[in-house]
Formats: sequence, structure tokens, C-alpha cells
Amino acid sequence: MKTTSMFSDVLSSTFLKPSTQNYPAQQYRTPERLRGALEWNAEKCTGCGLCAMDCPAQALEMIVIDRKAKRFVLRYYLDRCTFCAQCVFSCRQDCLDMSNVNWELAALDHDSYCLVYGDEDDIRAALAE
Ligand code: SF4
Ligand code: SF4
Repeated sequence: MKTTSMFSDVLSSTFLKPSTQNYPAQQYRTPERLRGALEWNAEKCTGCGLCAMDCPAQALEMIVIDRKAKRFVLRYYLDRCTFCAQCVFSCRQDCLDMSNVNWELAALDHDSYCLVYGDEDDIRAALAE
């Protein structure tokens, strides 16, 4: 590359807007269909366990505390999840979704990758077992 051409490239790029994003200070809106962490609507859940059964990564565990009282706990192993959304398609009650907001999932410790969803008392009961 000739020095004059290199010099003109450097000069022109100095006045161009940066092509990169100043992440995380500046963030674009994520696409609607982005698959982030799993969300669970406990109200609609019947505890059928189909989501856990169909998960190819064994990333879900449905713990039934009391089926009649609709007391369920969902354990989600985020580090096993492949974000395939099979569980979302399998759930007949439409209570699972993949968040397009909660997608920054990096963590320094392993425990952060085991998420437990449910009522606080039910979680305590499930974890005591
Ligand atoms: S998105 Fe796929 S891998 Fe993740 S929990 Fe659902 S079925 Fe399992
Ligand atoms: S498939 Fe849906 S209704 Fe059945 S246990 Fe999973 S989340 Fe609940």
C-alpha cells in the first residue's frame, strides 16, 4: 500500500462515524424473536412436566409440591440450555417464553446458572428435599 493512499484512508476514517457500538453504554433494541433466558408463567402451569420431558438438553426440572394446590417449582439449568425453544413449543398452556430482554447471561459463578422459579415457600420446600 502506498503511503499517500494509507494516509488518505486514515484521514477519511478520522471523520467517519464509528461502525462499532459503544456497548454496554449504548444498546440497540433487541429483536422481538431473540431467545434469551426462559420465562415461566406459574399461574397457567399445570405441572404436566412436558417441557422438562421434551428438553433435549435436560435443562429443566419440574418439581410438583402439591398438584391440587397448583404448587410447582421450575428449576432451569441455564448453562445446559441450547435456547432451542422446544419447551416453549411443547407447553400446551402457553406458559413458557424466551425473553428478548433478559439475554445478558454471563456470570462469574456456576450457581448463577441454576435458576429456580416459583413461590418462595415452594422453592424452600423443593430445595429442602
Ligand atoms: S430452550 Fe431448549 S434447551 Fe433450553 S430449556 Fe427449553 S427445551 Fe431445554
Ligand atoms: S409444559 Fe407448560 S404446563 Fe406443563 S409443566 Fe411445563 S410449563 Fe407447566
